[in-house]
Amino acid sequence: MKILVKNPYNGSVISEVKASTKDDVDREIQILKKGQKKYQGLSSYKRFVILKKTSDLLREHKKKFSHTIALESGKTIKEARAEVDRAVQTFLLSAEESKRIKGETIPYDSVPEGEKKSGFYIRVPVGIVGAITPFNFPLNLVAHKVGPALAASNAVLLKPSTKTPLTALLLKDTLYKAGLPGDVLSVVIGSGEDIGNHIVSHKDIRVISFTGSLNAAEKITKSAGIKRILLECGSNSACIIMDDADIEHVAERIVRGGYALAGQVCISVQRVFVEEGIMDDFVSALIPKVKDLKMGNQMEEDTDIGPMISKGARDRVISWIEEAKDRGARVLYGGRPIDDTFIEPTVITNADESCKIMGEELFGPVVVVNKFSGIENAINKVNHTKYGLQAGIFTNNLDVALSAIEGLEVGGVVIGDVPTYRADPMPYGGMKYSGLGREGPGFAVEEYTEIKAVVFNTP
Ligand code: NAP
Repeated sequence: MKILVKNPYNGSVISEVKASTKDDVDREIQILKKGQKKYQGLSSYKRFVILKKTSDLLREHKKKFSHTIALESGKTIKEARAEVDRAVQTFLLSAEESKRIKGETIPYDSVPEGEKKSGFYIRVPVGIVGAITPFNFPLNLVAHKVGPALAASNAVLLKPSTKTPLTALLLKDTLYKAGLPGDVLSVVIGSGEDIGNHIVSHKDIRVISFTGSLNAAEKITKSAGIKRILLECGSNSACIIMDDADIEHVAERIVRGGYALAGQVCISVQRVFVEEGIMDDFVSALIPKVKDLKMGNQMEEDTDIGPMISKGARDRVISWIEEAKDRGARVLYGGRPIDDTFIEPTVITNADESCKIMGEELFGPVVVVNKFSGIENAINKVNHTKYGLQAGIFTNNLDVALSAIEGLEVGGVVIGDVPTYRADPMPYGGMKYSGLGREGPGFAVEEYTEIKAVVFNTP
């Protein structure tokens, strides 16, 4: 069977790829098991060289990668180039981590029964990592799994999104070109419910590293069995704007954070809470900047907002806007669908907490701007959700910033900017239903290794 990969802008077929069967997955896992045993014997220096070379090749072939990313994901060509730049760094960071897989000595004799005992612990690879990735960052989110997993001497079975498999296939070729020994990385293509679930429940996969929606993550937790699962899920990220903030600058940043990739970013600004005294001024600064955004073909240089990934995604977002209107929200700008996969960049205000656009992950080009009074009230509003990935706050007051750091139930607090910020070395991941575990190569290698304790009896 073939899977058609389509350009979300016009639905044209870019390529056809062979769909993998469950038998293919089983066969690949047996190959990877053998490949990993050999790969484990490779020195950390040799792993460093391979991953560093991959980083260099990504830089060299930036044009090809960014073109493929933009074409299959619908993100703009400018955004695709930025993604390649980040993946160059993610592989470089992973290369560096391959030299730092360390253990430490344990003071066994610190308890009475430890007398005459000494030793240490080491980190060993888990074996095969099953990596399952979403459509919105087809290169860098794959890099965040494959890079650290290979750095820690594992084999990887990768299942990219069926919407964006071409970038993953290109990356596989690049890794092998960089000298990765054969049979250490496999890419299988097929639906999450079928092939994805088969990988998740397979006994020989020791870690599932998943990035995607909460809906899929919940299914994964039910079928994984006894294995480690890392979940990087969604959010409805919030940003607090205090009345001492520079309104023009903040409005610019909210536009960056709210409409990049047509809002299809896990840390996209979805909910903005503005201190009531500056609400009108903030809205007046925001709307013209939203109006200036140019929607269109993602391959054109001056496009700011490309298409959404599918008509289904567009229809869902429109229905949530309608639901919010029915519950008393007001559309300040936009709110209408255009063509099959576009929605006007939209600003909504006065949305009730019970609306889907407040409680769920919207994943579209819509920002809700509501007002608040007092930092405690703002923190409560941000926390009023099952998600907890990142939050941002604009303030010049250190006490207010400290209250936000303490009170916000999120995996990352950004002071002085939008929550839509991820530097690739940082520990990245969510609290509550936004996920389990942390990515960032230095943190991920811990997730992709097991600790083995060594005890010497020295009577
Ligand atoms: P998705 O529909 O959940 O799919 C993600 C991946 O999981 C795809 O490869 C999908 O396969 C697979 N999958 C679906 N159901 C599965 C199952 N039952 N078992 C195993 N695998 C399964 O997400 P998406 O629409 O591609 O991406 C958007 C979501 O990803 C948003 O929720 C966003 O917030 C989240 N995300 C999170 C982060 C983060 O770092 N926290 C980063 C980016 C995106 P197929 O689609 O091919 O069927």
